[in-house]
Amino acid sequence: MRLTFWGAARQVTGSMHLLETADARVLLDCGTMQGHRREANERNAHLPFEASSIDAVLLSHAHIDHCGNLPTLTKSGYRGEIIGTHATNDLTRIMLLDSAKIQEQDAEYLNKKRVPRGEQPIEPLYTRDDAEDAIRALTGRSYHFWFDVPHLRARAQFLDAGHILGSAITVLQVQDGSGTIRFGYSGDLGIKDKLILRDPEPAPPLDYLILEGTYGNRIHPPRGQAETELAQIIRDTTARGGKTIIPAFALDRTQEIVYSIHRSILNGALPPLPVFVDSPLAMDATEIYRMHPEVFDKETVAFMEKHEDPFGFRQLTYTRDVEASKAINDLDGPAVIIASNGMVEAGRILHHVKNNIENPRNTILFVGYQAENTLGRRLLDGAKRARIFGDEYTVRARIEQDQGFSAHADRIALMNWVRPIADQLKGVFVVHAEQDAADALVQGLRELGIENAVAPEYGQQINLH
Ligand SMILES: [Zn+2]
Repeated sequence: MRLTFWGAARQVTGSMHLLETADARVLLDCGTMQGHRREANERNAHLPFEASSIDAVLLSHAHIDHCGNLPTLTKSGYRGEIIGTHATNDLTRIMLLDSAKIQEQDAEYLNKKRVPRGEQPIEPLYTRDDAEDAIRALTGRSYHFWFDVPHLRARAQFLDAGHILGSAITVLQVQDGSGTIRFGYSGDLGIKDKLILRDPEPAPPLDYLILEGTYGNRIHPPRGQAETELAQIIRDTTARGGKTIIPAFALDRTQEIVYSIHRSILNGALPPLPVFVDSPLAMDATEIYRMHPEVFDKETVAFMEKHEDPFGFRQLTYTRDVEASKAINDLDGPAVIIASNGMVEAGRILHHVKNNIENPRNTILFVGYQAENTLGRRLLDGAKRARIFGDEYTVRARIEQDQGFSAHADRIALMNWVRPIADQLKGVFVVHAEQDAADALVQGLRELGIENAVAPEYGQQINLH
């Protein structure tokens, strides 16, 4: 059996790993790479293998850096199944359609400039039709049931990764030569006590493991403080008569924040104030969360029995059309506005930040990771001026951060997850981590006695026996 790391190698995007035996070639995830535009475009558009030679795809979850390049795979000739959990497949559908729309709009925007200059028009990475082809290949499996992988002499199983709705740890028992190799891929590993979702399941006994290491060198603040802090910041802003603007990713973070605010209003930590979710994608994602209560944790199920919808309450308004979105601006008095994208780089959040950033009564509250070179990061770093849609604004609103809402295991949780099976592991391959985090985690794994712990490079091949 052989692994080749075709993405998320010493970086956090573009997850894609190829597993090969004498019988079959199976792809684990097929995500888009983000980052420097030219390099990312090049890599996303040109797959490093013959798409038609792949026999099956196993999908860990619906984040775009794990599923976003599936339409390129089908467009390039892949004709097999794409196997994920039912919830993952439903979320993947809306993520791919949204991604195709963005690809088409970006190409159209650029071509408006290129064509008059006599330059060659550019093609979108993929279109809505391409996305629909990939969506038609999605095949659902439930957690815990073993299934056959097409053409591979193996059985496979998804375990709950507790990261976002439907997220899975993939476990394979592969017949290779005369023996069986027990192989695992963590996907993105979630954290304990996260709202809505169950805790990540323990790692089963494995010979080899591909392990994510996003926070391989960091420790999160205690989870329990996240909701208290959120309510505190909104309450303080409300007392000043201001609005709280929350940039949040449409998938998972928005549902978690809405549920948190709902709980806080019910337990009196927050007054019943108007809350807006201004994101069509978040609305679609919330619908899919509502369709899959079978994967919710006990607390959320109990909440639903008592209060029905965790993602809806009297003061909450979801806005889909642009006019309704604009109308939020005219609203006087305290409110909470949640919009995407989470790093204030694009989307409706830009309008809300622009309209509220110069008023000292308001707060811009960050609840997610802010990458370098994003407006979100600059605001967090204390920028006094912000450039939005070509105009300069003075930052007078308060800038706050609630770090408790991470969806990824931290260093301690990653090590605790591996520890019970450490003495059986013959190798661990750390992916989905920047260089520093990967190095720190590899070091930690070696201290657990796993000598063959490495962070593979892009394109590196490793043989497993
Ligand atoms: Zn993820």
